[in-house]
Amino acid sequence: MVVLEPDDRAGAAWRASAGLLAPQIGPRDDAAFFELGIAGREYYRAQAAPLSDETGIDIDLFDGGILQLARGARAEDDLRATVAWQRQHGHRADWLDPAEVRSEYPWAGACDGALFAAHDGSVDPGRLVEALRQSARRRGARFETVAAVGLATDGAKATGVRTASGVVPAGDVVIAAGAWSGRLTGLPRPISVEPVRGQMLAMPWPARVPRTILFGEHGYVLQRAERALCGATIEHAGFAAETTSAGERQISLTAASLLPAMGGLPIVDRWAGLRPGTPDGLPIVGREPTMPNLWYMTGSGRNGILLAGITAVALTHLMNDEATFEGIEALKPERFWSW
Ligand SMILES: Cc1cc2nc3c(=O)[nH]c(=O)nc-3n(C[C@H](O)[C@H](O)[C@H](O)COP(=O)(O)OP(=O)(O)OC[C@H]3O[C@@H](n4cnc5c(N)ncnc54)[C@H](O)[C@@H]3O)c2cc1C
Repeated sequence: MVVLEPDDRAGAAWRASAGLLAPQIGPRDDAAFFELGIAGREYYRAQAAPLSDETGIDIDLFDGGILQLARGARAEDDLRATVAWQRQHGHRADWLDPAEVRSEYPWAGACDGALFAAHDGSVDPGRLVEALRQSARRRGARFETVAAVGLATDGAKATGVRTASGVVPAGDVVIAAGAWSGRLTGLPRPISVEPVRGQMLAMPWPARVPRTILFGEHGYVLQRAERALCGATIEHAGFAAETTSAGERQISLTAASLLPAMGGLPIVDRWAGLRPGTPDGLPIVGREPTMPNLWYMTGSGRNGILLAGITAVALTHLMNDEATFEGIEALKPERFWSW
């Protein structure tokens, strides 16, 4: 396997990502996709230790739960319904009344109740990527610091990837260039992926607050080492991977409302990244129907860290003509194209 990657693509989402593993936080609509997210989370819970044994890199898996605060009657109703829905699907989800939140999480901001997803959590995406790179190298993968320009084809077959310095030949090609996937030339059709900017900022983690992940309607706060990571905006701003004062204001207000001890703490870092978004919010994973050796692994939007491991396993199944997870069916590329 050869992996082509430019030196330092400003805005690559994994560099910016909070690394939340939060399948139980968010809208409930598609049960198969929900289960895929759960499988994505469980994949890391199973793989963190073997990956660390193999590479010496600890991906900082935290699986101590995420608390999603409800504010207002509508949010309360919605979260209560989410708890019921998740339980009906066989997963642990707890509803905490405001008094229970105050007693168990006295540092959390005021709320009308909360959903507690006991097994959701986070990983450190930078460490995860480094560990996976090392693991892949041990299995023979080669990494080349060069940008792909487009697909090289011969009739209805992909023959490799074009770069500024020539073609890298390949038996199969996987398009996995994040928000830039749609900019590659020579693809059989346009890919419905566009950049969705997310701004983040870091503050010191407040003293005497245990490691916690708090989620609200407009953002979240989590601890990584001695810092609080606070995010994130969701903006359609083209390929400008920049932070803005409006974004910073929105994130810091949200953070202080979730974790009031953060009010007044200094911002120590800020950054932005570009999520690969799709029109229906679902990733694009699978084979190009008109080119049997071309594959897509892109468009994972807000959940690309959560889903990276499990969708990579699924893609391997598909490439080997094996059965795979039910939720993958909804991600097939041809859902966007009429015939
Ligand atoms: C602020 C922020 C917070 C986030 N938080 C979370 C979270 O908490 N949990 C979660 O699950 N997800 C989160 N995400 C989303 C997650 O980071 C993305 O879904 C995921 O990183 C997408 O992976 P990707 O490999 O498709 O794209 P990217 O991570 O963007 O990676 C694309 C890669 O392709 C390379 N590339 C680009 N162009 C080319 C080219 N021409 N040739 C070769 N290589 C190329 C880039 O250098 C980069 O390495 C967040 C994203 C942002 C921006």
